[in-house]
Amino acid sequence: MSRKAIKSLLIIMLIGLISVFGFGCGNEQAAPSENETEKPTYTVAFEATFPPFESKDAETGEFVGFDIDLIRAIGEEEGFDVQLMEMGFDGIVAAVQTGNVDLGVSGITIREDRLESVDFSTPYYHSALSIVVRTDNDTIKGVEDLKGKRIAVQIGTTGADYAKKIEGAKVTEYDAVTDCFLELKNGGADAIVNDNPVNLNYIKGNEQDYKIVGDTLESEYYGIAVKKGNKELLDKINSGLQKLKDNGKFAELYKKWFEVDPPEYLPGEENA
Ligand code: GLN
Repeated sequence: MSRKAIKSLLIIMLIGLISVFGFGCGNEQAAPSENETEKPTYTVAFEATFPPFESKDAETGEFVGFDIDLIRAIGEEEGFDVQLMEMGFDGIVAAVQTGNVDLGVSGITIREDRLESVDFSTPYYHSALSIVVRTDNDTIKGVEDLKGKRIAVQIGTTGADYAKKIEGAKVTEYDAVTDCFLELKNGGADAIVNDNPVNLNYIKGNEQDYKIVGDTLESEYYGIAVKKGNKELLDKINSGLQKLKDNGKFAELYKKWFEVDPPEYLPGEENA
């Protein structure tokens, strides 16, 4: 081998060594930031007139609520970011179904008909419907008095479906729950049928205007909606939810938003 050939061989080996070490070092350094960029972002659809689950903070303009905190906390456990996407409630299940958004987190009741379009996480909240009337109304005392009455509901909700089954009821559907309350206050409706925790939240501080009457109707469970068949994402959501239940963070968030401890036995674990 000529000197020249040996020299070129050495150079080649040197380059090889440098690239091996260089690559090694680069890799170690790159690892964390690579993971950072690989962290997926999931879009989350919700309708923001549903406190304490989701609403827009009047002062900061930020979306806040139990659902918002919950999905972010699940993301922290499972290594994903969330991008919030406000939309009409009646469009959420379809948006998840078509893959326009990754997740629906909006106090969505798990129901047979919706299960045909989307998959749901294990339940995270046990809810019910209730009836709201004006404080000065002495004639509507419960569901049996709603026959033939004007009922305000949010479009696409279980409350809307319930109201429509009441004999002779004139049901008007609004995009926002806030509009239902406005309409009731203005005398455009006699009652609202809507989720009880949300009704309680709207009435708090407005007891001069509104009251809840009768027993709660229909027990419901809320779940997080995922595109049908997206097992990977559904597993992540359920696993994150379970971790939060185990490490006490779920209870912390629950207490923050509902001012009580979560039920000892969370509903739906038997469905998991
Ligand atoms: N829980 C009700 C439903 O799923 C209402 C939800 C909502 O208005 N955000 O229909």
